[in-house]
Parts: sequence; C-alpha cells; structure tokens
Amino acid sequence: MRSFAPVDPKRSLLMGRIRQRGTSAELIVGSALRELGASYRLNVRSLPGSPDFANRRRKWAVFVHGCFWHHHTGCRRATIPKTNEAFWREKFVSNRSRDARAIKVLRKAGFRVAIVWECLTSDPSRLRAKLSNILEPS
Ligand SMILES: [Zn+2]
Repeated sequence: MRSFAPVDPKRSLLMGRIRQRGTSAELIVGSALRELGASYRLNVRSLPGSPDFANRRRKWAVFVHGCFWHHHTGCRRATIPKTNEAFWREKFVSNRSRDARAIKVLRKAGFRVAIVWECLTSDPSRLRAKLSNILEPS
C-alpha cells in the first residue's frame, strides 16, 4: 500500500487506525462466538487476510469489516469523503479486492468464511444466525 494522497494530520491519524483491533464491532462478534460455544484465535496472521477470528482445526474464519473502510455496498455508512474523492474510491476498490482475494484462498483451502459487516453487529439475532452458519456446517 503505497498510494498516499496528501492528507491532513487528522486524517492520517484516522488512516493509521484502519487495522485497529478491539473495536466494538469485534468485541460484539467475539462475545457472540463465545456464546455459541466456539473457540477461536484472534487476528490470525498466518491465514490469508489475517481473519479477525478463526479456528484452523474446525476450518472457519470470520472477518469483521468496517462499513466505511471496506465500502459496504448499499450501506449508509459507506460514504465517500468529498476531499480527495478519487483517492478514496481507489482505496476502497483496493481494500475490497484484497478482501475478495483472501476469502477466495481461504475457501479453496476448505474454510467456511463469514464476513460480518460492522452494521450487522447491531442486530444480535442476524449476527448469531450468520455465525452459526459457519460454525455448524450443513
Ligand atoms: Zn454496513
């Protein structure tokens, strides 16, 4: 990632937090997984895309995606900043294609993969349904 548009210090601070861990969305997903009786590792760097939660033995991985950074299609949180709009569009496209690549590789390796969008974490029952789907393969 070497594409940096001129940014003000405040924004570059924000950008440095792209990979910030322990956001509230992640905390919610972690507790939902524990409630479902799943055991997991956090931020599994040895797997493609460093899933936020994964269990290698049971072959599942969960990515928690911020709606802004990963540009959730159709989501009201997926805004495009008016300043440096072209830069942001390119950034979102590259984030999304990186996500897609990692997921493809994981699925090929036999993993069940769930993408949990940040906005889904405010809906506990849909979140649980999504997670149980990959924890208990049909
Ligand atoms: Zn969203």
